[in-house]
Amino acid sequence: MKKVAFHTLGCKLNFAETSTIGRQFVDRGFEVVDVDDPFDVFILNTCSVTERADRECRQLIRRALRHSPDAYVVVVGCYAQLQPEKIASIDGVDLVVGTKEKFRIFDYAGDFIKHSTPHVFVSCIDDVTAFDPAYSADVGGRTRAFLKVQDGCDYHCAFCTIPLARGESRSQPIDAVLQQASLLAAHGYKELVLSGVNVGDYGKKIGTTLFELMKALEQVRDIQRIRISSIEPNLLTREMVDFMLSSGKFCNHFHIPLQSGNDVILKRMRRRYLTGDYRNLIEYIKERDSAACIGADIIVGFPGETDTLFEETHRFLVDLPLSYLHVFTYSERSNTPAIVFNGIVEPKIRQQRSEMLRRLGYIKRHAFYSSFIGKDLPVLFESKVHHRKISGLTANYIRVEVPSQTQLVNEIHDVFIEEVNGDVCRGVLQRETFGSESEESAVMTVGLE
Ligand code: SF4
Repeated sequence: MKKVAFHTLGCKLNFAETSTIGRQFVDRGFEVVDVDDPFDVFILNTCSVTERADRECRQLIRRALRHSPDAYVVVVGCYAQLQPEKIASIDGVDLVVGTKEKFRIFDYAGDFIKHSTPHVFVSCIDDVTAFDPAYSADVGGRTRAFLKVQDGCDYHCAFCTIPLARGESRSQPIDAVLQQASLLAAHGYKELVLSGVNVGDYGKKIGTTLFELMKALEQVRDIQRIRISSIEPNLLTREMVDFMLSSGKFCNHFHIPLQSGNDVILKRMRRRYLTGDYRNLIEYIKERDSAACIGADIIVGFPGETDTLFEETHRFLVDLPLSYLHVFTYSERSNTPAIVFNGIVEPKIRQQRSEMLRRLGYIKRHAFYSSFIGKDLPVLFESKVHHRKISGLTANYIRVEVPSQTQLVNEIHDVFIEEVNGDVCRGVLQRETFGSESEESAVMTVGLE
């Protein structure tokens, strides 16, 4: 039995796609092994969001070949689509496949026998209209499944390479999404995370909308939670917010990219909203549900971001009731409009701003988590047990751990929150979980259900 190892860089969508490629290998009799074990084939699914991709790609290939010097090396993903020649020039690479080709590795790799020169199959992305379904799931736990419902993007923000790497926006028809969701439910998954490049754009070219998909998914039996991985602020309507907050299944967790808290920079970035729109949306959500978790992506050091403009972004964020921040340091990407913009920010300043906002993000997360001390939260427990603790997520995206060696995996139980420790809340299982029995015997009952 041949062995294959995978490594994925980048977003959840990439992870979903790697999982789907992985299932193709399993179906053909391969054994999937860890990258630290010997393997015959190595698949690297790349990302192109930052300039680190190039360096990381080389390092990972070198590391893989140190473990398994004769392994057949395949590179796929956004970076492979954008810079195939660069990747093909890396020592040890055997096959480079683009976005259109990534689910057809078996058509190109033959018997996975190494050649003296790498083979490159990367076609133009402009006319891609087909949707390649994918989903990924946490190994073993069967807790959360990332379900790809949308791909590509038509927005062309000035800093972003994703439309160049993934092509135009396209969606999986509602019927097909429902089928996959039911299948995942039948396999025991409790939570679905709707994933894509621009999920809010779902349905545009197939005569439907994300809201229609949400209403249809609400009816899928046995799925207890549905989360939207991320949604652009201009695409999240009040109607959708109301629906999510009154739904029995949609999580009160919103990840809404902001990118800058300054209108001059937002316009330069070619974003489709202004800070006032963003603030109104966040306040609308929080007025309706103070427990809702709202996270934002921010880019610091975009060309033209002077000290004054950055301070405005900082103030804007301090005042907003956000629960966490994902901070990205701007990096120049080939073929994007921003690469020729003036007002370049020195790398050292970019780093300082990035650290400043990361600290602010930490403070916000801590304050959000702390507001639940002394309250009960339902937690969907995951498979990892570390140091006699098991952890899981609440609907509003709080990581909670409880002292236990027991099998609560893939069960939702109320936890009384006692304290916040770093980026996790600690608590104890509520008594109802166990009725009047002792913890151990009750846990056995839970495990047998
Ligand atoms: S919305 Fe903008 S940042 Fe997001 S994928 Fe599309 S182009 Fe990139």
